[in-house]
Amino acid sequence: MTNFKYFERPDQLTGFIDEETTCDICQKIKPCFDAETFYGADSISAICPECLASGALYSKDIFTCEGDSKALGKQIKSLNPAMPDETVEQLLLQKTAELEKTTPHLVTWQDWRWPCADGDYCTFIGFGSKPLYNRLAKNLDGLEYFKNSIYYTMKDGADPDQLWAEAIPDKEIPDYAASSVFLTLFYVFKSLHSDDIITIWDCA
Ligand SMILES: [Zn+2]
Repeated sequence: MTNFKYFERPDQLTGFIDEETTCDICQKIKPCFDAETFYGADSISAICPECLASGALYSKDIFTCEGDSKALGKQIKSLNPAMPDETVEQLLLQKTAELEKTTPHLVTWQDWRWPCADGDYCTFIGFGSKPLYNRLAKNLDGLEYFKNSIYYTMKDGADPDQLWAEAIPDKEIPDYAASSVFLTLFYVFKSLHSDDIITIWDCA
């Protein structure tokens, strides 16, 4: 499987169109992502992992997600106080284009911005469940770990204890198919530069 910087195991976590399809870019018949849900003024219906990863969307007005670029700009600036604003802006544009044009589409209930941490966008690693948080927490408490992972955009009005008790699944969610039975989903991301994780959730 092709590797993606911002998305782990997309063959499992988002999946392909059921049958092998003609990729709109390379015209080969192979497992393809459904591109109907991508954003932008141009449109294609299917793209293979290799074409997506190699940047075929750079030449089109198509993007697969939207990065939290405001927050990322602030992070880059605060990590590099001496960096000229122009360079910060260039770095931000470059990272944002890479995220939005080479990342598989994450199917979500609502539209929200892809989170960032430590001066880069984060990698989507899976759907939140108690076993996943407990495993990531290692020797620490899974609930505390979940609480610390909540993205700043989610903090208002959230009751983490209640979410843990009532909404976070008791069993691991191994793939996209298994995620589709839940009406609240927790999306877990990992920093590219530390062990920090970030959680965003939404509801049907
Ligand atoms: Zn292709």
